[in-house]
Amino acid sequence: MNALITGSARGIGAAIAIKLAEDGYNIILNDISEKAFENNDLPEKIKALGVECYVKIADVSNYEQCEKLVSEIKQLGTIDVLVNNAGITRDNLLARMTEADYDLVINVNQKSVFNLTKLIGNVMLRQKSGNIVNVTSVAGIYGNAGQFNYSASKGALIAMTKTTAKELGSRGIRCNAVAPGFIRTPMTDKLTPEQQAEMLKAIALKRYGEVEDVANAVAFLVSKNAGYITGQIIEISGGLSM
Ligand code: NAP
Repeated sequence: MNALITGSARGIGAAIAIKLAEDGYNIILNDISEKAFENNDLPEKIKALGVECYVKIADVSNYEQCEKLVSEIKQLGTIDVLVNNAGITRDNLLARMTEADYDLVINVNQKSVFNLTKLIGNVMLRQKSGNIVNVTSVAGIYGNAGQFNYSASKGALIAMTKTTAKELGSRGIRCNAVAPGFIRTPMTDKLTPEQQAEMLKAIALKRYGEVEDVANAVAFLVSKNAGYITGQIIEISGGLSM
């Protein structure tokens, strides 16, 4: 069983890769740059769990690079799990947001999901099996000031998740999404201490999320235990948004 996790050199993607390796999947790690794997012991950590681990460099917002990526992964056998995790932020108030930052975030966070769901969805249709998990965000459900581009991209992923579930369900392919709240990663380390403290006040469980909190939910969603769950968006936010 093979699982591709995009943007998985670090952060939430790396945690998902480790968890799926623990569950016995061979792992295909992906990132946009070779540099992300320099001085990075993640591939070794994964191999130490007794599964195969491959590193594939590709910009998932680029359709041609995704075609090359998928044709290489197909050589490994079936593609059983796709986790569309790669994502970026370019935050600013709408009045100050540049067109370039709008386009970049939409391309990386949203178009990448079109690229890989189309290409790997076709492989899964032929296999008559497969599982897709999209990593969206609470910002995509509720919106967030300063994140017009990011919220738009993550909101689109919710619609894409439901549409994929409806299009591919008859062939036994499931598609769900996780919507993390505030998870401690390099992405959220960029927030000021004031922004972080403000966020904590709104979290019912009074702690920030850990990458493993997201990874555990993804592992459940792709497992047989979730065999009758598709088209769903699971919030992993410690009760941030109630
Ligand atoms: P992260 O630490 O910044 O990791 C994201 C990874 O994606 C990086 O390794 C990055 O590589 C890679 N990447 C960026 N652009 C790419 C591209 N075009 N093609 C391939 N890989 C690319 O972020 P994270 O916090 O783990 O977030 C992972 C996902 O969770 C994202 O979709 C994010 O929106 C979502 N999320 C995170 C939080 C949170 O609190 N952290 C909350 C809600 C949702 P480089 O660094 O080499 O560019």
